[in-house]
Parts: sequence; structure tokens; C-alpha cells
Amino acid sequence: MADADAIVVGAGPAGASLAFLLADRGIRVTLLERQSDFAREFRGEILLPSGIDALQQMGLANLLPSIPQSRPTTLSVYLNQNLVIELALEPALFAGRPPVAMSQPALLEMLVAEASKRPAFCFLRGALVRELLREEGRVVGVRAQTAEGEHLLHAAVVVGADGRASLVRRRGGFEAKEQAPPMDIVWCKVPRFHEFRGARAYLGRGHLLIAYHTWDDRLQIAWAILKGTFGEIRRRGVGEWVEEMANHVTPDLSSHLRTHKGTIVHPFLLDVVSDRVTCWSTPGALLIGDAAHTMSPVGGQGLNVALRDALVAANHLVPVLRAGGDPASIDLAMRRIEAERLPEISSVQRAQALPPRIVLSRAWWGEPVRGLIAALLLTPQGRRVAAAQARLFAFGKSPVQLFV
Ligand SMILES: Cc1cc2nc3c(=O)[nH]c(=O)nc-3n(C[C@H](O)[C@H](O)[C@H](O)COP(=O)(O)OP(=O)(O)OC[C@H]3O[C@@H](n4cnc5c(N)ncnc54)[C@H](O)[C@@H]3O)c2cc1C
Repeated sequence: MADADAIVVGAGPAGASLAFLLADRGIRVTLLERQSDFAREFRGEILLPSGIDALQQMGLANLLPSIPQSRPTTLSVYLNQNLVIELALEPALFAGRPPVAMSQPALLEMLVAEASKRPAFCFLRGALVRELLREEGRVVGVRAQTAEGEHLLHAAVVVGADGRASLVRRRGGFEAKEQAPPMDIVWCKVPRFHEFRGARAYLGRGHLLIAYHTWDDRLQIAWAILKGTFGEIRRRGVGEWVEEMANHVTPDLSSHLRTHKGTIVHPFLLDVVSDRVTCWSTPGALLIGDAAHTMSPVGGQGLNVALRDALVAANHLVPVLRAGGDPASIDLAMRRIEAERLPEISSVQRAQALPPRIVLSRAWWGEPVRGLIAALLLTPQGRRVAAAQARLFAFGKSPVQLFV
């Protein structure tokens, strides 16, 4: 007999939510996570209305307020240090679900704690999946390594929710198409910026800096750089890099960055990737979240679309696994999951592709085009286009309903 109905590899937002949903519906699920501590894996932390809605549909609404978080109250956009947009992020603008920066380790601990209350759930922490098990061309389980040794685990379906460097993607023979965004992001946190509780974006002269108040009462800085130039930044040293950022923002933030430059010890590089597997399943195995489609950071989408993948995966997997999990029905369910999620993922990835090319361009046309776009944003038509884009990022392409 199989060890479980489903094996989920990776307890990020996609895997932990899917495992919770399956266990909650009585499906025997084993969740494997290579890390023993969620804080050891870096993740994005901005939850948008679409992601909050997904967590609420999972029945977790009453637990969300207890998770450390910060709700940005304003969004200010600067072009060449001049304020061009100032938006109060009122809950009404977001159908009552305004964006929040939320502690991901705490969110994931909550998900696995809730799942652990269900007898159908088994969680192996510190379990590194090394290989897929196959029988007659079908994936039937995984080989995993824990501190106790090696384990062979079998299930009717294996879900790879193991992120951007997914082993399930590699070992499952999945092929991916990449978009090659022209940027990388340098991340660092500095102490809180006075009483600032909002988010700011500074554009201009081929640079982009985003700053927002975090759940742990600090200021997160994201500095977009041209792909491949991090080595040069490191060689020049933190002091020079902070000076470059300080020259790009308004005087209040410049002096804050200069004052606290000694606190920036290990800036973290996000190697920006945007890709998507051409087919999300192979007999016996499915990919979801970053494993299926690694998202560019534009619009803070990765975490939110991962949560929505989990809802759709649960919708299709619960009925077939409840009915005994015959292979043909599982494979059909997996194809339906892809068919349902693909339109949103491809729309979002298309929408993410253009902005960095314009914002970061150092070509002669960069500055005039940015100026033109800023002027267009002041027209009703320009605002309508921008609002449609913002709606896609905030709410997704269309509603996703959990119906199991
Ligand atoms: C610096 C940075 C900033 C970001 N900012 C944002 C943002 O603001 N908003 C947003 O929505 N998204 C953001 N993202 C993207 C977001 O973090 C991801 O899209 C999201 O975490 C994807 O969720 P996931 O569950 O698919 O994968 P992950 O969160 O990557 O989780 C995968 C899990 O699988 C585990 N794992 C991997 N391999 C194995 C294995 N072989 N065996 C067992 N376990 C394994 C990993 O340890 C990990 O816990 C950001 C990402 C980065 C890196």
C-alpha cells in the first residue's frame, strides 16, 4: 500500500497550502521540506488581495491577524526624484483586502500547525527529496534523505512545489521556456524610517528603488540592477553602492540610507528569473507555484499566484483521490489544473515583461520614453490602462474559487 495518497515536495506557500487543503479534506498527504526552519529560505512577503482571498477561502481568516505584518498606508511613485503619484491604500480600493507585508516563516508555521491538527497530515521537516521513484514510466513516489537516513515514499500523486530550483522539475523531465528579464534585484533591510508606514518607488535614469515598511518594523530596500552587475557592485563595496542609491532618492530617504549604511552588511541578490514549464504534469507528478512558473518580482506576484495554484490543485485532486486515485483520472485532473491556471499565469508573465525594459533602459530613448509614460499617466486614458494593469496584479485575471 502507498504511504500516502499524495506527496507534496516543498513547504513554501504553494506546497504548505495544498497539503493543508488535502489533509483538511481527509486526503492522506505527506509534506516534505528540506529546511528544518522556515526562516532559512528567503521569500517574498507582500500578500495582495488575490493571495489574502485564497487564505481566507482556506478558512484561515481568523488566524491571519495574529501573524506579524505591516499594512502599507500609502504608495508614492517618484520619477527623477519628483513625486508623480501618491495613492492612499484604502481597504476599499482592494475590496476590503489591502496589501500587507507578512512574515513568511510565521505564515508557513501557521499552515503546517493547522494541517498537523488533521490526522491525514504527515510533515517531514529537514527531508531533502533527492529522486523520483518510477514504475513503468509513471512517477509513484520519492526518495528522500533525513537525519535518520534514506526513505522511499510512495503515493498516487507527487506534487512538486519545490520552488524555482525544483528537483521535481529537473528529475521529471519537464521543459521550461524562459523570458530572460534584464534585471537582478539587490535586497537589504535598514532600520525603520521614522514613522513611515508606506511604500515608495523611485524611477528614473535607468534605476529603480523600492522601499517599504516591513512586518519586523524595518525598511526593506529593493534596488533593481542590470542583470549580471552584482559582482561589480560587490567589488565597489557597500559604501559606494549605498551612495548610488542615496543619490537616486529624495533627500529624506538619502540621509536615512547614509546614516544607516553601516547596518547593511550582507546585501542579498535575487537572481530574477521568469519562466514556465511547457507542460505542468507528467504521469503521476504535477508542478505548482514557482516550480511550474517562476515569476519575475514585478508586481509582487509569486506568492499570490502560488496560493491560487494550491486552491485549483485541491479542487481537482480531492475528488479523484477520494474516489481511489486511479492513474487515468489523476492525470486528467492534473491537465485540468494546468488548463485552469495557465491563462492567469501567462497574462501576468506578459504584463511583467515590459516595465523593467523601460524602467531600467540606459539607451538614448529611455529617458524620453519614461517622461512620455509619466505624462500619459496624467491622462484619463493612461490612467485607465494603468488601472487595468494594477487590477490584474492585485486581483488576478479572474476569481479563483475553492469548491471542495
Ligand atoms: C528576494 C525575493 C523577493 C520576492 N518578493 C516577492 C513579493 O514581494 N511578492 C511575491 O508575491 N513574491 C515574491 N517573491 C517570489 C515568492 O517568494 C515566490 O514566488 C514564492 O515563494 C513561491 O512559492 P512556492 O511555494 O512555489 O516556492 P518556494 O517559496 O520557493 O518554496 C519551495 C520550498 O521547497 C523547498 N524545497 C526545495 N527543494 C526541495 C527538495 N528537493 N526537497 C524538499 N524540499 C525542497 C524549499 O526549501 C522551499 O521551502 C520573491 C522572491 C524572492 C527570492
